[in-house]
Amino acid sequence: MWVGLDDTDSLAKGCTTYVATEIIKETIKKYDIIGYPRLVRLNPNIPWKTRGNGAIAIHFGKGYGKKREIGYIGKKIFSYEKGRDIFDKSFFKVVKKIIEKNAYMNDKKTNPAFVICKNKPTYKIYKKAVRSIVSIDEALNELKKCIYKTYKNGRGIIGSVAAISWKPYDRTYELISYGNEKYIDEESVIKMDKECKTTFDNYDYENKHIQITPRSLPVIYGIRGEDADELKKAMKIVKSSPVKRWMIFETNQATDEHLQKKKIEDIKPYESVIVKGVVNKKPNAIRGGHIIFSIYDGSIIDCAAYEPTKGFRKIIKELEKGDVVVVYGGVRTEPLTINIEKIKVMKLVKVYKKVENPICPKCGKHMKSMGKGKGYRCPECGIKADEKKARYEVIKRKIKPGYYEVPCVARRHLSKPLKRMKGYIEII
Ligand SMILES: [Zn+2]
Repeated sequence: MWVGLDDTDSLAKGCTTYVATEIIKETIKKYDIIGYPRLVRLNPNIPWKTRGNGAIAIHFGKGYGKKREIGYIGKKIFSYEKGRDIFDKSFFKVVKKIIEKNAYMNDKKTNPAFVICKNKPTYKIYKKAVRSIVSIDEALNELKKCIYKTYKNGRGIIGSVAAISWKPYDRTYELISYGNEKYIDEESVIKMDKECKTTFDNYDYENKHIQITPRSLPVIYGIRGEDADELKKAMKIVKSSPVKRWMIFETNQATDEHLQKKKIEDIKPYESVIVKGVVNKKPNAIRGGHIIFSIYDGSIIDCAAYEPTKGFRKIIKELEKGDVVVVYGGVRTEPLTINIEKIKVMKLVKVYKKVENPICPKCGKHMKSMGKGKGYRCPECGIKADEKKARYEVIKRKIKPGYYEVPCVARRHLSKPLKRMKGYIEII
């Protein structure tokens, strides 16, 4: 039996993962958790999301086989690798009560829902929800033999269904700790980052910023990594205000599952895309410190490295017209612009700089330019020469072909950091 829930937090407060721990606390006496509870991020570009657009799915059953410690909620919480299925309608009352107590119903963007399913909905609903837009009806059509409840405009049902339908073809883990105060020791975060090699996005060295505390209470911090067991070691290194409970979630964070390869003419608003193109216009800075350029593949689209991407903008500024790049990012509307998450520079063009005007073959003096692109003329003899006769030098480019990414301070939950890109298979 799967329990899915979404959209219980508000723009400022709460966390759907905390509501998940409340459900586990209440139901663990009766049933076991199979696998890890799941934190599933969905399309980051939709405008009506609350904050991180993360939904929860938990698999309950009667566990058997290997068990492992996955959290602490007043007592150690274990999960089983395997389990016999159950379907218990009494869960409805329990989950309903917890959601109604914890959800921020007054926030106009908060539209909670939960669903209890015997069987998993099809994977395609997740795939659509992470890459584009799913309607409430589409989500409800996926449900067979299940019970659910929606609140307010009911949009939370989309994430609830999509979270259950996720299959972790690629996955990472996040250990989330909860408490009443939010203090964290910076040095200990740096120490943890250096010692726990399979964790990522803990600390932004360029911007000197702790990255594991982006959210509000009751969350103290969330540590992300490849290896669930190393997260427990990482937690012991981090010094913080008292951790009252913690839980490890299996997640689709840092998987790039939101991205899809597209030709520019096929790009739709709110998607996240991978586009190969030729730089069509040299990047330039606009007001607010954003860097904008455009790429061409038969059609043209603008690409942006916005101010929050900090030092990444220095890389983007070095692009020149004619460079071949692959851009990864979310699509903003009006005008359609790709908000770059990372970029692969495939090929750099040679850039020339004029260092000397042509010399007059008759009198040996330097000729003078007749205006940009109009050639040269000797002021003494009147002899003309075209542009190519000047002497040019190749400018040394400051960037090399390869991948570049935004600093982790600007990273989106779903974006795969380059640290995870070894053995990288491009998404088709
Ligand atoms: Zn001359």
